[in-house]
Amino acid sequence: MTGRRSAASLLGVLAVFGIAAADIGARPGAQDPQVTLAARAVQPGEVVRVDVTCRCESAPLRVRTPAGETALFGISSASEAGATRWQGLVGLDLETQAGAYPLAVYEPGRDAPSHTLDLRVVAKVFATRRLRVSPGFVEPLPADLPRIEQEATALEALFKSVTPRLWHGPFVTPVAARATSNFGTRSVFNGQPRAPHAGVDFSSAAGVSVVAPGAGRIVFAGELFFTGNTVIIDHGLGLFSLLAHLSVVTVRQNDIVERGMLVGRVGATGRATGPHLHWGVRLNGARVDPLSLLFATGRDERES
Ligand SMILES: [Zn+2]
Repeated sequence: MTGRRSAASLLGVLAVFGIAAADIGARPGAQDPQVTLAARAVQPGEVVRVDVTCRCESAPLRVRTPAGETALFGISSASEAGATRWQGLVGLDLETQAGAYPLAVYEPGRDAPSHTLDLRVVAKVFATRRLRVSPGFVEPLPADLPRIEQEATALEALFKSVTPRLWHGPFVTPVAARATSNFGTRSVFNGQPRAPHAGVDFSSAAGVSVVAPGAGRIVFAGELFFTGNTVIIDHGLGLFSLLAHLSVVTVRQNDIVERGMLVGRVGATGRATGPHLHWGVRLNGARVDPLSLLFATGRDERES
């Protein structure tokens, strides 16, 4: 489901949206706009929140990265007297190279950025596990390859769509269980590297409730080769959750779900060695650690 990715897509951007900000007054003489970043770390696989406060027009701001992707998302909210506050989420794919990536903030109708800053991505080494296993364990049967390829293509296309924002406020964990810190782990089976683990696993007994970590629309509810019974939620603005290995799916495609609403139950369907929940998150194509999304969206009580 990962495969080779173009450099341009490694730095996935962005979701900028207005938030209620009538009470945020810009200090006279303060830099305008003011741009700050919030993240657990600015590293591969992390979600970085960009906060912009400006005396700008009540139209969406843009944030642009050097990868050349222009992302123009937003919900214009009437600017009250004083400054308006905007927020965006930048996803750093787990294979992003370390380095400084200029991040530019654009106001509507302007070609020149009103603010730029360097997003300094610090290198991160993910754990590698080397295993000797029977070839049948890792090599899919030739007969399964067309299905695997077709599903991977369909998922990549799905993750490219950008729809209006449906989530509000902080994300929550989709199951009442402890997360293992296995995001980004690379497995090498019999000397052959596999795709890195693009999600986080929660150890849980089968049958435990799995809920939507944030509001959104169900864009897939069905069975896939690797992830078994799977629910994919489009939260809007290029942000997706994938919930895998479910024993039961309780939603249907096109259902709208609110945060905390039941979508299925923990299971071991697909390529799973035992019951657990796999939660993967895509942000404008970037494979990011769901736990970093919890952090990036969980620290702003002002958002409506
Ligand atoms: Zn997993």
